[in-house]
Amino acid sequence: MQIMSSVFSASVGGLGDGSGEVSPFANPSRPIDRSAPYKRIATEEAWSIPEIPKAQLDLLHSACPPDDASLRMAGLFAAFPQLQEELFEVGERRIARMDELGIDRQLLLLTAPGVQVLERSVGTGLAALANDRLAEACRNHPDRLSGLLAFAPQDVPSAVKEIERGMNTLGLSGAVLNSHTMGRYLDEPQFWPILEALEACDAALYIHPTTPPTSWVKPYDDRAFTGALAGFTHEVWMHTMGLIFSGAFDRFPKLRLVIGHMGEALPLLLYRFDWMQSNADGRSGLRGGQPGVKLQHKVSYYFHNNVWITTSGVAWAPAIKFCQEVLGPDRVLYAMDYPYQVSAEEVASYDALDIPIEHKKMLMQENAERVFRLPRG
Ligand code: CA
Repeated sequence: MQIMSSVFSASVGGLGDGSGEVSPFANPSRPIDRSAPYKRIATEEAWSIPEIPKAQLDLLHSACPPDDASLRMAGLFAAFPQLQEELFEVGERRIARMDELGIDRQLLLLTAPGVQVLERSVGTGLAALANDRLAEACRNHPDRLSGLLAFAPQDVPSAVKEIERGMNTLGLSGAVLNSHTMGRYLDEPQFWPILEALEACDAALYIHPTTPPTSWVKPYDDRAFTGALAGFTHEVWMHTMGLIFSGAFDRFPKLRLVIGHMGEALPLLLYRFDWMQSNADGRSGLRGGQPGVKLQHKVSYYFHNNVWITTSGVAWAPAIKFCQEVLGPDRVLYAMDYPYQVSAEEVASYDALDIPIEHKKMLMQENAERVFRLPRG
């Protein structure tokens, strides 16, 4: 429990050690600009429905629970009633909090690990239920809330149908995946129908972290690195690089991927990825014995054509400027990470960011409108 508590404090506490001290990298307290010449669209804002943690707990406490680190994390999150209340509430109280923080629109993502730790029919049913409720919340507050559909990759044909229903019937704004599903990644060929459906439905896919899979989580658990300090980041690293090297973006060139937490630090290493590409490019026998896949482009190409990043949890000017420079100002989107990392100082620090106003408007508003096909203006 001690170990999992540290996952919680690292991922939920925001300030990390719970000391209440703001990082010296953060800007000093200043008021939020109430007449900023841009809207603030926060693009990685968490929500859930009570039925999901209930099903997670039922499984966790069943006679024979699966050995799944993400399910154990879900059990830990479920033990914090105030957090759960904040996740479940998608009405007036959330809107009031957004008003306080100057957030014009939240993009709602089903919080990790969501339906992906559940038995396939349970997960599939709860994804649909969550999507119905999400569409209702967005209908109730069309000017303030948008949302990404959830799906359960444990059942590929049902996931494809849910993606189509979420986009075409419910009018949702893309899809969210809480990364691996019981240790499986979307770069494996059995999931290609999901990638095909996302591309066909013009649904951007946001891959949000969960804990590393059981097969490689132990060294992280042993050091209390499972959450935001390392495990979450490395886990999305695996999924993103896995998709690139599997040739997914050559096969589905219009597929759009969004990753948070400043691109999970990947942009910093693009030079090295290109240089070392041959380590994996074209190698046969990978992913359980698949034939070799030779990429059509350098790794960095996919970061300039298929990948967008958000700033969730990293309100830090040097990192934002670097990513805007190397990826382009059109590929970096603002996110807050409500209710896990909520700070008026962070909002104000974006107002103070010394970048051209047209780039700031792209960061805070226009890129989100474009990537998630949100109403403009
Ligand atoms: Ca998050």
